[in-house]
Amino acid sequence: MIKQMPYQTLHEIFSRFQTQEAEPKGELDHVNVYTLVVAVALSAQATDVGVNKATKELFKIADTPEKMLALGEAGVIEHIKTIGLFRNKAKNVIKLSQKLVDEFGGKVPSSRAALESLPGVGRKTANVVLNMWFHHPAQAVDTHIFRIGNRTGICPGKDVVAVERAIEDNIPVEFQHHAHHWLILHGRYVCKARAPVCGNCIIRDLCPFEEKNL
Ligand code: SF4
Repeated sequence: MIKQMPYQTLHEIFSRFQTQEAEPKGELDHVNVYTLVVAVALSAQATDVGVNKATKELFKIADTPEKMLALGEAGVIEHIKTIGLFRNKAKNVIKLSQKLVDEFGGKVPSSRAALESLPGVGRKTANVVLNMWFHHPAQAVDTHIFRIGNRTGICPGKDVVAVERAIEDNIPVEFQHHAHHWLILHGRYVCKARAPVCGNCIIRDLCPFEEKNL
């Protein structure tokens, strides 16, 4: 496995990401924290573009757990049937809305444990919500971050929890909050899975990947 990059290199890499994009944003549309939870839960094995298309009308009708319950499972299915695993996801959206109403007064909780207790909300979804809404330096490791971490040594690890730990332990603290989005955007648009655009990469001189695509 590739070695963890030294601190000084990581500092330089994230300084460059910051100069390029000081306030990186996620690309999942939402209008409040509840719709953020739903959008992230729907995004498993789906693209952000696909989820945004489906939630555009859904969130106009149902932007609170109460309104989602009023819409019902069949109504949710009608809106999200273009997304993979839509039946199961619709079920979870209703169940998590019910739990928010029954146990949290209709509000989205801000602790990891409470978030992960919601149906359809795993560690990754909880981390995205903690990071994007509650501004915790939580690191949601998706397929892009996992690939980049192990390709470059920015945050290597044999599984997502190890990669998450590598980010928390090694990336300079001032970059922790935005590290998640910088890495996702870098993986989505530059350090792509099959054909990384190394010729147009702002950290090429610092990257040890041996099969650079020049
Ligand atoms: S140089 Fe290539 S492999 Fe290295 S980070 Fe940039 S795009 Fe990825």
